[in-house]
Amino acid sequence: MNYRRFWPYPFIVVLPFVTWGFANEAVAQTDSLPFADPSKMFERMFGEDTEAERAALEKTAVSLDDETKLGKQMVQSALASLKAEQIKVLTEGRDVEYLKSLVATLQPYMRNKNRYKSIQVMVAQSPRIDARSFPGGTLIFFEGLIDAAGNEAALAGIVGHELSHLDRGHQLIPLKRMKIMEKSFSSPDSWDAFMNSQSNMTKMWTRPFRPEDERDADRDGVAWSYAAGYDPRELAKLFQKKASKTSVAEDLPWATFFRSHPNDQERQEAILKQFKQLNQKQRPKEPLFVGRENLINRFSRKQEKEAMK
Ligand SMILES: [Zn+2]
Repeated sequence: MNYRRFWPYPFIVVLPFVTWGFANEAVAQTDSLPFADPSKMFERMFGEDTEAERAALEKTAVSLDDETKLGKQMVQSALASLKAEQIKVLTEGRDVEYLKSLVATLQPYMRNKNRYKSIQVMVAQSPRIDARSFPGGTLIFFEGLIDAAGNEAALAGIVGHELSHLDRGHQLIPLKRMKIMEKSFSSPDSWDAFMNSQSNMTKMWTRPFRPEDERDADRDGVAWSYAAGYDPRELAKLFQKKASKTSVAEDLPWATFFRSHPNDQERQEAILKQFKQLNQKQRPKEPLFVGRENLINRFSRKQEKEAMK
């Protein structure tokens, strides 16, 4: 899909409304006009999706074929930029096998586990503390993240977080927005549909990073790792570690996974709150697993169980 031909539209379309909105603020204190209140307009253009927008996005399907094609392109460009930075990417070996076994532990909790049956795992040999998932089912973990996690429970939370982005189709949102826009350009059937398409387009440029997606991915990461017997409080500790200004944390290369919005404190608190709720609802049958040694040896609880068979 050609994204470039749409680039001037947000500015052309939004600017008159912005100007008009500000002009109205001084003179009109009425709700009878759609955007008499500029803050409402800004919320619509730049805020989180409205219920209607969310429903429209959910209704818009992307075929696995299209998703896989998009994912391949994204992985290729990610690998090219890692290569340019002279970062080696592994597709086999101890680290890859270790992460694969964590993926296999958490994958069954995905709502779309049948869509993402085979998930590719790669490890970038870099001290960066980061992980990324790509459409179609590729995960790239950075070595720095594995070390920073400190134990298997925290790493399982992160693996769950990345699988959740995939499961919820977060990276497919720009593609879905394009589809919605194309449809409404050809036949805008109402003012609301027209405005939906406008705000969809604006958000493609103004909100490439969606804090609400991070919150959802954290929630899944916690719920799934808890269901698999891990202690999610270890993931919370990781955010605490990052937030501590006194430690060496500041010098570490924390990257996109830990982007500061929603902030670390907020994420940490949300994880602990969710843990409390989960624990009240269903107490674990066995003590929750942390697995410090497992991470050091890059040998998971699952691999241990399999070796004993
Ligand atoms: Zn994320």
